[in-house]
Amino acid sequence: MSTQKQTGHIGVTTENIFPIIKKFLYSDHEIFLRELVSNAVDATQKLKTLASVGEFKSELGDLTVRISVDEKKKILKISDHGIGMTTDEIDKYINQIAFSSANDFLDKYKKDANSIIGHFGLGFYSAFMVSKKVEIITKSWKDDAPAMKWECDGSPEYVMSETKKEDRGTDIILYLDDESKEFLEKSKIESLLKKYCRFLPIPIVFGKKSEWKDGKSVETDEDNIINNSNPAWTRKPAELTDDDYIKFYKELYPFSDDPLFWIHLNVDYPFNLTGILYFPKVKNGIDLQKNKIQLYSNQVYVTDSVEGIVPEFLTLLHGVMDSPDIPLNVSRSYLQSDSNVKKISTYITKKVADRLDEIFKNDRPQFEEKWDSLKIFIEYGIISEEKFYERASKFVLVKDVENKFYTLDEYKTLIEANQTDKEGNLIYLYTTNKDEQYAYISEAKDKAYDVLVMDGQLDVHFVNKLEQQFNQSHFVRVDSDVIDNLIKKSDGQEVKLTDEERNALIELFKSSIPPIEKTDFIVGFEHLGEKGNPVTITQNEFMRRMKEMAEMQGGMSFYGDMPLSYSMTVNLDYPLVKQVVANKENSKDTIGQMVDLALLTNGLLKGEALNKFVKRSLEMIHL
Ligand code: ADP
Repeated sequence: MSTQKQTGHIGVTTENIFPIIKKFLYSDHEIFLRELVSNAVDATQKLKTLASVGEFKSELGDLTVRISVDEKKKILKISDHGIGMTTDEIDKYINQIAFSSANDFLDKYKKDANSIIGHFGLGFYSAFMVSKKVEIITKSWKDDAPAMKWECDGSPEYVMSETKKEDRGTDIILYLDDESKEFLEKSKIESLLKKYCRFLPIPIVFGKKSEWKDGKSVETDEDNIINNSNPAWTRKPAELTDDDYIKFYKELYPFSDDPLFWIHLNVDYPFNLTGILYFPKVKNGIDLQKNKIQLYSNQVYVTDSVEGIVPEFLTLLHGVMDSPDIPLNVSRSYLQSDSNVKKISTYITKKVADRLDEIFKNDRPQFEEKWDSLKIFIEYGIISEEKFYERASKFVLVKDVENKFYTLDEYKTLIEANQTDKEGNLIYLYTTNKDEQYAYISEAKDKAYDVLVMDGQLDVHFVNKLEQQFNQSHFVRVDSDVIDNLIKKSDGQEVKLTDEERNALIELFKSSIPPIEKTDFIVGFEHLGEKGNPVTITQNEFMRRMKEMAEMQGGMSFYGDMPLSYSMTVNLDYPLVKQVVANKENSKDTIGQMVDLALLTNGLLKGEALNKFVKRSLEMIHL
């Protein structure tokens, strides 16, 4: 091809590619910078490759990619010292955009502008989203190739001519349009470079470093390098120490606590994936942040919203993933159906489970020590991913009120003999609050039962999941019935009361309950032995769970709106109760005292009712 001045039509089959670029791509204008800097980096790396295979024999020289702005001329420039382009290459790569079925494509993706760029190699053309004119000044690494200048003002016409350029490489010069003035602001460009180019493999320089001197910021002679070109995830695990991993974590998330564990991902078949996933330290279990994982493609930042790429529960992890196989600019729905993405998701789930299993096996004390933070991830995974449950059921831990940890199998072995009821059901007792449910825990302990602590955010769901998985097993909170009923070993003594007696007693006890808003009590009778409490207040497991779920999900308002319902169990063996039954005692104060003690044990006695109880008690001990 002649290198004289040449004009021509850019080879898009649709005439109107530029209006389309401008019109549909406005949502994410800033990505032009990512595209152009990545091209510069690619060109530089290609040159390094040529040098390494001996094809390029001259000095590589300074390979830094430099970005600069000229506010007066409204110019933004991206310069590299990469391979550059010959006239033929400009023609092939820039002028003839490979567009076989452009019209179909545009119709299909009208609403999804990003996919146009990524899919059809329009990276360079994204420059026109922000520019009224774009120039390429380029000199190929090939010795005899003349420097070329290409310019285009946003119409499908371009001008290409020979020019002068001292050094090898490419300058892309953007004459920013009036709507894009923000890209002349240094702070804007710097923050975009930090976002998209932070870990690119070639040094990226934007201006000079500044330092504080005499109370103001002054420029130094030192280049302001934007990126860490050798980030931890691109290095070999064997080269990295724990400190390196932690240092990199802090680089990603300054001011964070040290992570608990990390997983270095490294696959090359059947897809490419590298990265480091960190288990963050969870404080109070409430500050969980999703969308902390950053997704890269060949070290170019793509996004930090990775739903659809990693399984939901792993979005709680932190760190980076890098895969050239994840399509860069496509929509979420496309991503979710992409088969590579699905494979990646399965792979990561397996990797995470394997790593946890390994720590569990090799260092159980450490695993237990960090359990409180780890628990939320593992339980989330168990609840939401069947595959993960299969693996994690071997190392998920439960903790009892003595702060001892057990695997599910170990725990089953521990309680099997003593906590199986007469129907053959294995009963797991648990508490959600060791202090509030103290009295009930202590009743259980008196029977040599063990009580688990289930006070985590996800424990309600976790307990549900385990019940579904286990045969003939139930989880019941210690205060959901009197202990003899929770684990029924025999039929117990039958209650023999006439309807009349029963109703009179119900009336007597019911009328002694102080009013508590939105709360109902159902009075019942049992033989619980002379030493058992006279009155016990419990809340049915099923009803409580329904209510808790309703509160968590906001929906299911049938249960959410129902009043709290408690059972009040009166122990017919208790001496004072016997007297009440025999009509020898019917003092309101005596019955009230028994009822209040039960309410107090359950944490239900409050306000005026509590005050009355205290006054009455003081009177009783007054000499
Ligand atoms: P893609 O990068 O996806 O191939 P682009 O439109 O961004 O699509 O670029 C098209 C081609 O133009 C590149 O593949 C490359 O061959 C060439 N090119 C773009 N920028 C440069 C550059 N700075 N130096 C050398 N070649 C470049």
